[in-house]
Amino acid sequence: MNSEYSKVRSIRRPVSLGKRSQRSTRTKKKKGGDEEKTQGATKKSLFSHRAKNETNPEETEAFANICRCLIEHRWYHGVMPRGEISTLLEDEGDFCVRKTTERGKPIVCISVKCQKEVRHFPLVFENGQWTLKNLIKTRRFYEVVELLNALVTEKIALSGAILVRAVPRPDYYIPHSDISLICKLGEGAFGEVWKGSLKRHEDGKAKKAEEKSAAPSSAAPSSAGSALSGNSEKGKSRLYVAVKKMKGNATKAMTEEFVMEAKLMRQLVHPNIVTVYGVAPSEEPLMIVLELAGNGCLKSYVAKYQCPPDQLLQFTADAARGMAYLSSKLVIHRDLAARNLLLGTFVEVKISDFGLSSSGKTEIKVKQMKVPIRWLAPETLEEGVFSTKTDVWAYAVTLWEIFTRCQTDPYPGLTNQQAKDLIRGDALPMNPPEGTPPIVAKIMEDCFNKNPDDRPSFAAILKRLRPDEDVSAYEPKDQSVTSPVKRANAPSAEQSARSKRPSRK
Ligand code: ATP
Repeated sequence: MNSEYSKVRSIRRPVSLGKRSQRSTRTKKKKGGDEEKTQGATKKSLFSHRAKNETNPEETEAFANICRCLIEHRWYHGVMPRGEISTLLEDEGDFCVRKTTERGKPIVCISVKCQKEVRHFPLVFENGQWTLKNLIKTRRFYEVVELLNALVTEKIALSGAILVRAVPRPDYYIPHSDISLICKLGEGAFGEVWKGSLKRHEDGKAKKAEEKSAAPSSAAPSSAGSALSGNSEKGKSRLYVAVKKMKGNATKAMTEEFVMEAKLMRQLVHPNIVTVYGVAPSEEPLMIVLELAGNGCLKSYVAKYQCPPDQLLQFTADAARGMAYLSSKLVIHRDLAARNLLLGTFVEVKISDFGLSSSGKTEIKVKQMKVPIRWLAPETLEEGVFSTKTDVWAYAVTLWEIFTRCQTDPYPGLTNQQAKDLIRGDALPMNPPEGTPPIVAKIMEDCFNKNPDDRPSFAAILKRLRPDEDVSAYEPKDQSVTSPVKRANAPSAEQSARSKRPSRK
């Protein structure tokens, strides 16, 4: 048997399947290839014989239970989008199992690479047993893993496709069962944010085999190795994380977008941005698992502690560095503001909230936006355009927030309309707060240039704030976040950002 496949363990059959009887006698294959009837099993099959789009809560729950059991297996890819499956299955015979919908009904199917294309074979679950359409008369199995084992070891062809190697799901696809919630940290438009812990699977050989075929290029979680809380189970360890629980129910399209976004964001690894570890899209609520910023949000921090001007300057340099990194990866943040600056263990700024980010493009246009207008550049107000240079404008507004110690939102005392008039007007939209260092005041002024082309780049801003720092790694290159990201070439923000915690107010 294929060595990678051999790690596929057996699972117990799913729990309660409603009114249907549980296993009675195990099906035996008859000599003639036919099978004995299962005693006590009803004729009704799960999700069969129902009108299109007719759902039954009992069946839905039973199906959810099945999927909860399957997610224990690395070859089960849950609701992984079809397009993504095609990129994961590289070689002839590569296969995985995933959940999808057929005529509005949830189903489980095997996806297998065959003659350069990926084919999908729905599994049939009938009378408590699993089979496939072309095996329905001959073979049935109590567990999906048994069915897969038979297909692999007996080389049973499915319309010409032969299963060879089970491809494990990528690390950015996290099962809900691997996440434990510890305490609530806050709440945003997206939903609640919790401190949690993430189970990490480190089973030596198997892990290596998985990485060979499925692990994304950057090893994001290992970057936070110091946050490991030690081994709690054999071969497994836990990592403290922040977990965003999404409000409301997600559609299939939203879930797919969510998975793809996490995949892209996971490739972004830098000390001044919050790393996205992955998503848990298989059950409600959808969750996004992030690096935990140990010192919480900057807004609360500056309200709580008497931060000296040097430290505020440090925050501005960290934020410029994080943004320089994002812009070098062609990521437009679109919601840069003090509320989206978090602080890590060394009180270094970590830019968060990529919910509105877009990657791979230098400019995007949106018709409707849910962005607070006080951070918007004139061209965004006029034409709905977002670019790195609109992020630069928002950075200047964020500088204003930092040097007012985040006491109010920008344009205090003004209505949104009055703020818009100032943003569109010829004069500087806001003055640097009292006590702003001259270098920061000048940067603000340059970032508020009405012509986006005349605004400085984030790399140039960082160079002005930190003349000794090598910023060449952040010069924009012709690449997107889909290309592998090297962590090593960024200047060490951890070193420069380590500052002592100031005294409490
Ligand atoms: P919105 O999502 O509407 O822009 P927001 O940025 O305030 O609002 P969230 O990003 O959802 O909302 O975060 C809410 C709060 O949760 C933050 O203010 C912060 O205190 C906490 N938080 C969010 N992410 C993390 C994280 N990675 N580490 C530590 N705390 C976090």
